[in-house]
Amino acid sequence: MSTEKLPSRSENYSEWYNQLIQRAELADYAPVRGCMVVRPYGWALWENIQQSLDKRFKATGHVNAAFPLLIPMSFLEKEKEHVEGFSPELAVVTIGGGEKLEEPLVIRPTSETIIGYMYSKWIKSYRDLPVLINQWANVVRWEMRTRLFLRTLEFYWQEGHTAHATADEAQEETIRMLDTYASFAEEDAAIPVIKGRKSDIEKFAGAVASYSIEAMMGDTKALQSGTSHNLGQNFAKAFDIQYLDKNNELQYCWTTSWGASTRLIGAIIMTHGDDQGLVLPPRLAPIQVVIVPIFRNDEEKSLVMPVVQRINSELADFRVKVDDRTEVNPGFKFNDWEMRGVPLRIEVGPKDVEKESVAIARRDIPGREGKSFVPQEGIAARVGVTLNEIQAALYERALAFRESKIEEPPDYTAFQNSVQNGWAISYWCGGKDCEAKIKEDTKATTRCIPLDQKAEPGKCIVCGKPAKEKAYFAKAY
Ligand SMILES: [Zn+2]
Repeated sequence: MSTEKLPSRSENYSEWYNQLIQRAELADYAPVRGCMVVRPYGWALWENIQQSLDKRFKATGHVNAAFPLLIPMSFLEKEKEHVEGFSPELAVVTIGGGEKLEEPLVIRPTSETIIGYMYSKWIKSYRDLPVLINQWANVVRWEMRTRLFLRTLEFYWQEGHTAHATADEAQEETIRMLDTYASFAEEDAAIPVIKGRKSDIEKFAGAVASYSIEAMMGDTKALQSGTSHNLGQNFAKAFDIQYLDKNNELQYCWTTSWGASTRLIGAIIMTHGDDQGLVLPPRLAPIQVVIVPIFRNDEEKSLVMPVVQRINSELADFRVKVDDRTEVNPGFKFNDWEMRGVPLRIEVGPKDVEKESVAIARRDIPGREGKSFVPQEGIAARVGVTLNEIQAALYERALAFRESKIEEPPDYTAFQNSVQNGWAISYWCGGKDCEAKIKEDTKATTRCIPLDQKAEPGKCIVCGKPAKEKAYFAKAY
């Protein structure tokens, strides 16, 4: 790791983000433009995200399966909006085993079509419903403008695909999974999110309604961090997913799909990171505590190391790393682990051994302010409490920042200003023209129409016509 400082987050956010990813060894650029290599430290973070989400999916009755990477081109063409939405981004295989294929195969950009095809074979009766399947997979979308973790040609995600007997059940499922993403984001990633419905322009190609969780990044741009779609009967009709109901009558199923991806890593970096590097929420951090022994000679080493080992074993319930490298000094180690966002550092030196204490330093509060001396006795309980405090503090800080950057502007002139360095929440008539005008004038888009709003009817911020709902507007990644 180089010891050079990162670009300042406030002065050059974009360069700060790119360099942080490299320096914290989360990911690297691949030989194919737009692809990324997720390095072990980044993958360990992703594994913790996966485990947390997977537990939540299983607790709500879902099971995992794996579907093929290659999808016949004709499958995508069965749902008109779906193929229109995805065709510009498709990677297509035309040669296999040295021969031209009779039918081109698409590398999955998402799996509604192939899973819909399989569901039509598996679902026969109302007794087969609901089907609640998730898969952890990689997908390819040929993006032109790419950014590590936020938008890459190939990325990792999960996609849930469910089939139900009624429209109500499908809608319930859609919202249940949106809530699941929101609780993951807030409880484990310490990222406050707004749950809402997407506008028609922003919704998933082929969905009846799309919902998302939207998070505010450190530069105030919005990041869509998870989506849940009610597909109605669109895919059921395209793929003949039918069942015999209790009266022995043939009915089309109602389906949903929902996904979250390695984008969440981008969200964590951009929500919590600072000028020293990454700041990880303790619940997801691959390393929660790093112990740095401090000694100048063998004599001090023989005093310090037994204490370090004892503390390490007392912290068996946490993800702990002892940094016993001898080729670098403690100052280098401090910077290194700060760059990697480890939530808590414990320092043990000869004086600490003498006093039966240790120094602990919180990553979320840089410098002296975040450092304190605590007794060695009861260290495990102390670490547990402190990690919870860090988790809560990161969420509160992100929430306070978001609240300070959302305005409800009085008119369209003020609106245009609000979305330059923050978000606006405003009445919107729902018209595509007003949505397009906002985008053209400000580069901001409708992020979502929040689910919890007790708005009295008002007037559209753009055209002044009656509006039933408010929407969030922001520039977005
Ligand atoms: Zn309007």
